[in-house]
Amino acid sequence: MLETKAKPSFTLPKLPYEESALEPVISSRTLSFHHGKHHAGYVAKLNELVEGTPFVGRPLDEVVKRSAKDPKAKLIFNNAAQAWNHAFYWRSMRPMGDGIPGSLLASAIKRDFGGLMEFRTAFTKAAAGEFGSGWAWLVADKDGILKIATTDDADTPIVRGEKPLLVIDVWEHAYYLDYQNRRPDYISAWLDKLANWEFAEKNLGML
Ligand code: FE
Repeated sequence: MLETKAKPSFTLPKLPYEESALEPVISSRTLSFHHGKHHAGYVAKLNELVEGTPFVGRPLDEVVKRSAKDPKAKLIFNNAAQAWNHAFYWRSMRPMGDGIPGSLLASAIKRDFGGLMEFRTAFTKAAAGEFGSGWAWLVADKDGILKIATTDDADTPIVRGEKPLLVIDVWEHAYYLDYQNRRPDYISAWLDKLANWEFAEKNLGML
């Protein structure tokens, strides 16, 4: 009799664009490794780890939030949060972005940072200054106030009740093939040409 293999709980989401679509800011080689090896690796490992646990078949964001509270589920958390963060990162970028947020988001940025330039300076400083591997986020806190947050390794603002609007991955695997140690150049090009402000504004609108 043929053995039927259970469907894995989690699957790798497709990129919302071609692997070459973010060039020249992010090369197709970087995107291919980042999505096809790193992100795929977190998803595969997560499927392995959840086997036989109550996390099987649960939505990814629920797995992230519940495993965050359980020190014994640290490995599950790391892989689940990395899977969630990367899916959010792909959608935080778009080919040929113009660097300009729409009016709803622009007015919230003005209210909470003073203006787009001030936001940009603070975001760049946070992303460039994140020590080691991590993420820099634009989030809305519980009161709807926009803030910049950085998280180490796999950590993610969704476990603190903050609402992510946009994220940049500053792990070396996100930029090293294209920029080597020049992380600030990656951040600056990312803000100018890739940041998906429509996505951020949509997230803000869903508050
Ligand atoms: Fe990454």
